[in-house]
Amino acid sequence: MYFRANEGSHYCGACLSEQVERSFSKEMSRTPLSKDDVVAVGVSGGKDSMVLLHLMNELAKKTRAKLIAITVDEGIEGYRDKSIDAVRNFVSKLSVEHRVVSFKNELDFSIDDMSEKTFVERHPSGKACTYCGVFRRKLLNKAAREAGATKIAVGHNLDDEAQSVMMNVIRGDVIRMKRMGGHTKKGGLIPRIKPLKNVPEKEIVAYALLNGIPYFDGECPNSFNNVRRDVQTIVNDLEAKYPGTKSQIIKFYGKIRIEEVKGEIQSCIKCGEPSSSSTCKACELLGNVKSK
Ligand code: SF4
Ligand code: ZN
Repeated sequence: MYFRANEGSHYCGACLSEQVERSFSKEMSRTPLSKDDVVAVGVSGGKDSMVLLHLMNELAKKTRAKLIAITVDEGIEGYRDKSIDAVRNFVSKLSVEHRVVSFKNELDFSIDDMSEKTFVERHPSGKACTYCGVFRRKLLNKAAREAGATKIAVGHNLDDEAQSVMMNVIRGDVIRMKRMGGHTKKGGLIPRIKPLKNVPEKEIVAYALLNGIPYFDGECPNSFNNVRRDVQTIVNDLEAKYPGTKSQIIKFYGKIRIEEVKGEIQSCIKCGEPSSSSTCKACELLGNVKSK
């Protein structure tokens, strides 16, 4: 039995699975799929993206949309190599096309290179995660566009979303807060969807176990020293004390009106990828890495 503290209700396995599927379907009804759609699913091998791939595969069968799984390999030994193995096994079972894009091939360095002591000494304020997130988004968008994708689906869950809202509050970053809501097709940016954004992390784990969905359970060695980890602890503590906090944070975000981000999407003068300024964030950070 699973207990939802904010509702005070117990769910059996079958009912919990149904709840997760209902939440996925409700979110997908906002951006219905058709046979002309090509959905690029970002699949890291963790629980969220593997559950997303499973659910999206079922939906693709019904709608005849095309599915392609894309994994970004940041080059983190002992972590990403193992999770990629899990993805490879699962996509072959589902017969879904799979592409892997790596930092090493595309950018000429890996996150492991950046995590070395010398890198940290040269970039005292530059934690690997700051760079990793920006490069990963860029490579996922590029690979999806090259695959002819009409949508990018990512496995962000309720916990991730609540943490992101709080992180943007802490940083006072209204522009990034606005971008969290996704975007319609702009320049070379493929629209992003988050079909699991209302499903709590615990329920995704339960769904994976109940439905025999394999996933890689390891944690990135760099994740123990980032802001997200601190925010996660705070939000989890609040949720334990005041059940429903995570959902309320998301509802709050949905209700506030954030002014449109000014400026058109343009092509980065260095790499040609979509950007809100003349040089994209990835190229700006890349300049930092290579100049020091
Ligand atoms: Fe990248 Fe940081 Fe996430 Fe590891 S924890 S995959 S370095 S963003
Ligand atoms: Zn660029």
